[in-house]
Parts: sequence; structure tokens; C-alpha cells
Amino acid sequence: MSKIIASAGIRGAHKIVERAEKKWKEAMDKWGANEPVGFPNTAYFLPVIYGILGYKVEKLGDIEWVVNKCKDILPPFVKENVHLPYLGPALDAGMATFFAEEVIEAIKYLEDPNCYTKQEDPTEDNLWLGAADDVILRKRGVEFVDGTAPGFAAILGAAPTNEIAVKIAEELQLKNLYVFMAAEHEGKRFSEQLQEEGVQIGWPTRLVSFGSDISAAVFAAGFAIRAAMSFGGVEPGDFRKLLIYNKDRIFAFALTLGYVTDEWYANGLGCVNFGFPVIADTPIPEILPTGVCTYEHVVSNVPHDQIVQKAVEVRGLKVTVAEVPVPVAYGPAFEGERVRGADIYLECGGGRTPMVEWLTTKEMDEVEDGKVEVIGPDITDVQPKSKLPLAICLEAAGRKFEKDFEPILERQIHHLVNYAQGVMHIGQRDIAWLRVGKGAVEKGFKLEHLGKLLYAKLHQDFGTVFDKIQARIYTEEDKVKEMEEKARKAYAERDARIEGMTDETTDTYYSCTLCQSFAPSHVCIVSPERTGLCGAYNWMDCKASYEINPTGPNQPVEKGECLDPKLGMWKGCNAFVEKASRGKIDHYYFYSIVNDPMTTCGCCECIAAILPMCNGVMTVSRDYMGETPCGMKFTTLAGTVGGGLSTPGFVGHSKYNICQRKFILGDGGLKRMVWMPKILKEEIADRLKARSEEIGIPNLLDMIADETVGISEEEILPFLEEKGHPALTMDPLM
Ligand code: SF4
Ligand code: ZN
Repeated sequence: MSKIIASAGIRGAHKIVERAEKKWKEAMDKWGANEPVGFPNTAYFLPVIYGILGYKVEKLGDIEWVVNKCKDILPPFVKENVHLPYLGPALDAGMATFFAEEVIEAIKYLEDPNCYTKQEDPTEDNLWLGAADDVILRKRGVEFVDGTAPGFAAILGAAPTNEIAVKIAEELQLKNLYVFMAAEHEGKRFSEQLQEEGVQIGWPTRLVSFGSDISAAVFAAGFAIRAAMSFGGVEPGDFRKLLIYNKDRIFAFALTLGYVTDEWYANGLGCVNFGFPVIADTPIPEILPTGVCTYEHVVSNVPHDQIVQKAVEVRGLKVTVAEVPVPVAYGPAFEGERVRGADIYLECGGGRTPMVEWLTTKEMDEVEDGKVEVIGPDITDVQPKSKLPLAICLEAAGRKFEKDFEPILERQIHHLVNYAQGVMHIGQRDIAWLRVGKGAVEKGFKLEHLGKLLYAKLHQDFGTVFDKIQARIYTEEDKVKEMEEKARKAYAERDARIEGMTDETTDTYYSCTLCQSFAPSHVCIVSPERTGLCGAYNWMDCKASYEINPTGPNQPVEKGECLDPKLGMWKGCNAFVEKASRGKIDHYYFYSIVNDPMTTCGCCECIAAILPMCNGVMTVSRDYMGETPCGMKFTTLAGTVGGGLSTPGFVGHSKYNICQRKFILGDGGLKRMVWMPKILKEEIADRLKARSEEIGIPNLLDMIADETVGISEEEILPFLEEKGHPALTMDPLM
């Protein structure tokens, strides 16, 4: 250990502990020992203190013990002419620093409850997010466990220019790392630099502006500690296991940009405890031999264009960055990013224009691998804020390719397109929705890149099941409509493949957890008579997907003992859901909307809601933009119930599911349906007629109200009475 670093770090630790003690004493005078203190909405108290020491800080008075502990472990200042082994004491100084910083930050929440936004994003007038609460921890921490995010970079200070800041941030995002930011250098902060350049900051883009002071750096340590406790099952107080878990599992490091103060050194020593090395852009002394960290501890004077690469190398992180030929950054880090309002350059689908996505099989000699054609105007031909119809048609061929694989590859379009920076994608099939932001267009993003990225990524991820793929992208209205027509036929054929199957004829259902990146607790279990709520995955599709990718998002679920045949509940399904939702959901009913229904995510085709006055249910599809009798439009409903929870009274489902025999059968089935938008009635008319005959009410379709009858329960009730709708005489719904 370098003597300079040890002396500076120990000096810094003393300063920070003194500051914490002073703040604490002032707070005690003001509020007294019984005043509750802590970070918002967390079960981990002050997490570094709780994790490392097993000590719960709940009231101001509890802090006394922590301050004493800090003083206990703080080593004496390093003397000029005495050489002692430094590593042990220096590491203790680093820990004392983190404990003291948690005290400082906790008191900050007390002094000014609005100092941080306490949510995932900055607000208009507050850039600083503060400690991640447990909801964010669960949602984001799991990415550290499953590898979607290998780790994080804790950035202190600011880059010499905004441009360099943006480049460093983008490079880190590209490697799927989270970026945790704190502290200032010469009055500038890294977060502010990004903000000034219009970069979207917040948890969804993995650029996390923790706080303006150096003490906010402790939120990064707190996040790492909580991840180990929450996902690694490490007990509070078991500091050895906590630190080892972090060293082995969380690929994190600190980047210091600018003059390294004593306090920064002290935080650096804190990081080394976790096995997180420090990479500096200034010529500070280095600590090269390995010991606590996997490789070097401190590497300095690294040029900015090499700093990310160097950090990744020193931390021993293996990142596989896909070569995707698009002019914007590309990777899962950009999946959650939104394109809104004034940022929109081009918009397609989402009910505004027709949009359709369709992957089909061709003969080997009909496909030229990698060919991408755009038929109709491209982005460069239209003005900002334009809308265009859009059809993304993919044609695949291969010796091992099966028709059953079509929907699986087609369903990838959603997240693969979302991975492009500045491009937003929602939905699937003929209800897809795309937005391309101005920033992406400035960088040269065109519609042909949709084809190019799909080509590259599908080859990477599914190259074993097909040999060739080509893309046609249509933006002329009549062509898009023609494709839509063809695609709908194909969807109907796919859907019909499970027509003869029933839930009773198989012991195996399939899970789908593809949507967990948006709705972390959401788990679809797809049975023959309960297709996925996005409409893109039925039981057959999930089965085929499992064959292609046995460790993928579609796993066989042995349904096990039936706990409720009427409402549809199985022991094996519950157990699976509990595990896959990480304990958030432990049961749901397949055939009910009233009693704990299946979870709903944002990409459902339809959302059903109960209408108590009519003793029935309504359902609304995404393509209907108007008001509905439950008082909410589709978008509001999706925003309210689409977060991955089970919400009694509401359930997401596919269009196809409406006429499947088990559709809310536990609550009376299709006979309960009292309202649907006209457009949906027309679309499923044939199947609905067939199903109505089966249940002995051949004219049910005419009894179902739509928006031409009314958009409130009061308006539609007289119509239902006049038609003699069966729901009115059924058992009370609730
Ligand atoms: Fe899978 Fe369900 Fe999402 Fe469809 S809605 S992709 S079935 S998790
Ligand atoms: Zn979804």
C-alpha cells in the first residue's frame, strides 16, 4: 500500500468522521435521541452499517454507537518517518468513512426531506436521486445477479469537458454497467455534465445521479451491500461473506475524474474493501500488487479515451459487446429508455398509423441473407414529428427451421429494437408501436437499421435454428395494409394450432418471463386454453421456444395437484410463479378476473375490467383509443394494472383468449361480456359467433354493447336489459 494514499485516505476518513459526529450532535440538539432516522422505504436501515456491523440505526440516538465504532476503528494519522504496514488500518479507515457518510446522508434526509427525488428519475428541479429504495433495489439488483448488468462504475468528480463525460457514460452503458455518480471537481459534477448535454439520466438508463456531495458515494456501497443481502442471502453482520460476495459477483469499480481530495482517497479505501479497484485520470500513486482486489487496486493517470477499457480490464470483467451495425449505441441498457413529446422524430403504429410485424418462412433460394430493403419513404425523407405506416417483414430460411419457430423469432423484435439508443418499441404483431427520437436520427439512424440490427441479433441469438434471414420494411400505406392482411392470416393459423387442445389434456404448461425487464414480478403461465396476454405466445410457441433455447424465458411447468378446477389453480404453477417472481406473487387463478387473477404486464392486447352495475365484464383492446365504461382508457388501464401485479377486478389477456373456452370461466365465462369496442367485436366476430353457439346463446354478439351504445355503465345498462343480456340474470359477480 502506498504511503501517500494511506496517509491521505486516513486523513480524509478522520475529516469525514468528524463531520458526521458534528452533524449528529447538532441533530440531537434539534430533534432529540428518539427522532426516527434512515433512508426512505427500505428494510435495510443504513445498509452499510447494517450489513457490515449487523447494527440497526432507527433513531438519532442509535448513531452514538456508530460514531464510537468509527472512532474505534479509525487508525492514527500516518507519521512522517515511521513505516508501518498500512493495508489493514487503511481498509478500516475506508470502512469508517462509509459508516460516517451514511450518518451524514441520513441526517441530510432529516434536515431536508426533499433533498433527493426518492424515485427512479430526476425531476424538473432536482437532479439528485439519493439512496435507491427497496423497490428499485429489487428491480435493478436482480440484473446484477442474472448478469444483465455485470456491475457498476462509481464516478467521482467531473470530466474535463461535457463531451468527454458523455463519451465515458455511453461507453459504460454499452458495456451494460450502471453508472453511479457523486461528488464534484472544480464546481462541476459528472451528472450535471450529462444533463447539460441532454442525456437522459435515471435508473431506467442506468445513469444514476446519487448526489452532489462526496458522501453520496456511499449509496453505491449501500446498493452493493443490499444486493448481497437480498440476492446472495448473506446475513447482516456477516461482513466477510458480504465483501467476498461483492468481490466475486459484483463487477464494480470507481473512476475518479479530477483532483483526488483526502475525502476521495478515504472513499477509495472503502471501495478496496469490496474488491472494487480505483481508476484515476490524474497522476496519483498507484497500488499495483494484487491482494484484496482481483488485480491492481489503484491505477492512475489513465487517458479518458482508455479509462473505461482500463477499468474493465483491471476489474477482470468479461463483456461481450455485440457488433450491431447501427449508428447509435446498442444494448440492454437502452431498453427502458423512453422517447417522448418534443423528442419524437418519427412515430409508427400505436393506433396512430397501421403497423405490423411478421416473420415468415421461405425456401432457401428465396432468401438472400442480410438483405434489407426499405420500400417507401425512409426517415431521411420525412420532417421531424412525422407519422408513417410501417410493416417489418422478416423472411427466414434454414434446413433446421420450422414453422413453429416463426412466432418466437418474431417476438424478439420488441426487445431487440428497444436496445437501440433513442428508439422505443411497444407491443407486437399488428398492434406494434415505434418511436424514433431526434437524437437517434441526428446520429444517422434510418429505418434500414431496423432490418440490420434484427439481422445481426437474430443471427447471434438464434443462428442455430435458421440459416438465412432478410428484411423488408414497408412504409407505404397500401403495402403495409396488404402485409397486415397476410400477417393476420398467419396469426390466425398460428393461434388455431392449439384449437383442439384443452388444459386438461396436458400436465405441462409453459412459463414466459420475457417481460420481466419491464415488469419484474410478471410471470405468464401459458396453458393451451390461456394464451400469453401479449397474443404473441401460445402454448405451442412456448414449447417450441423451449426446444430452441432450453434455458430461455419459456420453461416447462408441471402443473401439479389441482387446487381449484373452477377458478383454475395448480400447486405446481403457484410454486413456479413464486420462484419466478422472486416471492412477489405466490398464487393466481387462471380462469378468474374477480379472484387474484394472473399478473398483467404492459404489452397485453386487451384488458378486461369488471362492471359491477351490469353484473358483467368489459374488455378493451389497445387499438381502441376512446373512453370505456370502467372509466379508463386502454392506456390508463395499462398504466394502472400493467406493472406485473395481480389486480382483482382487472386482467390482461390476448384477443384470441376471449373466445377460448376457459376465458374467465370461473366467473361465468364469455356470458359475462357486456361491452367491447366495435373494432374488436368486428375483428373476432367469426370466432365469437362460433363460441356463442357453443354456449347456447347464438346472438351474444348483438347483445354486447360498444361505444356506439355508450361509454358508461349507466348508458349501456338499458341496452343490456332490452337485449336480455345473460349477465343480468347470472349470480352476482362479487
Ligand atoms: Fe411472454 Fe407474457 Fe410477455 Fe407475452 S406477455 S412475451 S407471453 S411474458
Ligand atoms: Zn409484456
